[in-house]
Amino acid sequence: MTSVSLQNVSKSYGHVEVLRDINLEINQGELVVFVGPSGCGKSTLLRMIAGLETISGGELQIDGERMNETPPAQRGIAMVFQSYALYPHMTVRDNMAFGMKIAKKSKTEIDAAVSNAARILQLEPYLDRLPKALSGGQRQRVAIGRAIVRDPKVFLFDEPLSNLDAALRVATRIEIAQLKESMPDSTMIYVTHDQVEAMTLASRIVVLHGGNIEQVGAPLELYERPANTFVAQFIGSPAMNLLPSSVATSGAETQVSLEGGKMVTVPIASVDADRGASVQLGVRPEDLSVTAGDDCLFEGTVEIVEALGETTVLYFEAKPDAAPFIAKLPGIQAIRKGDKVRLNASKSKLHLFGADGISFLAR
Ligand code: ADP
Ligand code: MG
Repeated sequence: MTSVSLQNVSKSYGHVEVLRDINLEINQGELVVFVGPSGCGKSTLLRMIAGLETISGGELQIDGERMNETPPAQRGIAMVFQSYALYPHMTVRDNMAFGMKIAKKSKTEIDAAVSNAARILQLEPYLDRLPKALSGGQRQRVAIGRAIVRDPKVFLFDEPLSNLDAALRVATRIEIAQLKESMPDSTMIYVTHDQVEAMTLASRIVVLHGGNIEQVGAPLELYERPANTFVAQFIGSPAMNLLPSSVATSGAETQVSLEGGKMVTVPIASVDADRGASVQLGVRPEDLSVTAGDDCLFEGTVEIVEALGETTVLYFEAKPDAAPFIAKLPGIQAIRKGDKVRLNASKSKLHLFGADGISFLAR
């Protein structure tokens, strides 16, 4: 069942259009993550669903009902922000109960809802504490508890982990994943700029860029079949390498000629001649391995070695203004700065993008 539906939704501030023609259907029970660089319109889109921003064009439906003009309190949503926005003079219990008290719910109902949320979030030992006596992670759990107590149709999260330090961010991320599992029927929309959060939490990811949706898909679908160079370089770290090249011949497979003259076979059929003149061959750093053979994809002199123990990241010289070519090899490697290295990748791992940035695989 569709829970949230956006049809041709747009947003302008004066003459500046920050979101255009957003079309998206979110089903009940999904955890959909909006991801993209800072300023791409994630918060604006979430706040339009919440009713905190007006909708300039198009239609928003929640559970099949038009919501464009409905005030936030009547949309059946609950929102969790980056800043926890707890009442400092109220205990955890009162913070969570506050919305229900205002709505004049009975004491029995409030107590039941608060203890349910406290149980789900393991906040029972802290119910009588004030927010100042809690860690950042616990405060964010109280803010989530306040949302659960409202029993919303849709949960909205705007970068809820951004204020936490790295270790706590990982722990709280896992808690949110468990929370979602314990509430399989609730719909959640989660905004982040962090692709790791997006990959680990989402049932589907929506990649936003400059006010447009670049691609919507399951996390590994975006990783394995990015629709364009933006998604290819946004999902995955370090970013996918892109090598300028041109199509030499195309039939059942395509022969690509790299700058410098190397020829590479890509398992993509029939690239149109008019899109083949100037293409980019994509290969992820982790799909490369060292080879002794002549038929390598890339050879170069190592400029920087990052030995992380679990992986070794190699950076190769690039033309001025171009991003370095990067390889990510498993474990500890006996490779030093200044070494000449040849790298290859299995052809099933290669990507090919047109001059317009659009993947040939996606067609
Ligand atoms: P994100 O959450 O992805 O970082 P936002 O949704 O906050 O991005 O902002 C999207 C764009 O809209 C940005 O370019 C921002 O400057 C602009 N914007 C946000 N709020 C306003 C506003 N009240 N008036 C004018 N421009 C705004
Ligand atoms: Mg934001």
